[in-house]
Amino acid sequence: MMMTSKLLEYLDTLFPDPKCELLYATDYQLLMAVVLSAQSTDKRVNSVTPVIFSKYPSLEDLANASVEDLEDIIRPVGSFRKKARFIKEIARRLVDEFNGVVPVDREVLESFPGVGRKTVNVFLAEFYHYPAIAVDTHVERVSKRLKLAYLNDSVLDVECKLMKKIPRESWAKFHLQMVLFGRYYCKAVKPLCKDCPLKEYCREKKKNLD
Ligand code: SF4
Repeated sequence: MMMTSKLLEYLDTLFPDPKCELLYATDYQLLMAVVLSAQSTDKRVNSVTPVIFSKYPSLEDLANASVEDLEDIIRPVGSFRKKARFIKEIARRLVDEFNGVVPVDREVLESFPGVGRKTVNVFLAEFYHYPAIAVDTHVERVSKRLKLAYLNDSVLDVECKLMKKIPRESWAKFHLQMVLFGRYYCKAVKPLCKDCPLKEYCREKKKNLD
């Protein structure tokens, strides 16, 4: 069996119905949660977003929020000064330019503060089921270990290679499954290689089985 078929099959066994672990109720809440998740964890983000969105229940409230107050709430996720400004500015632009609706346009979205290609991919795939493979730290690590990409490939290289190798209809689900696989099995430190059926394709197997 080809390596990618075996990988997809294994991911389907482990995570038949993968879900995004970020909590959100609306389009802008998801976008902001993804922005906050940069260099942080979903768990930490989930500990602050309900506080933000109950204290500032509308986009107008967020656009007018005090940056210092947002910083205090956001502190646990890290880079809180920068992220507090991003949240307020995103809210302001959504109110002023987009009638409060997050635009479904990659280029426009990437012009928002704190929003890069990965954030857009996560947002579009999760909220609109748009085919996209967001390459975060887990997806990048697992892809490189499994020789789906070279070790010195950029994040964009990894994304392009994955899009060539994985069927388009599986992209969004594949991203979620790879994140979960990287988070709970193929971890950065001490991956659980012993029972992994992908060992024969993996660069890491020897290191972690000794
Ligand atoms: S063998 Fe280990 S490092 Fe390789 S894919 Fe499996 S869990 Fe990850």
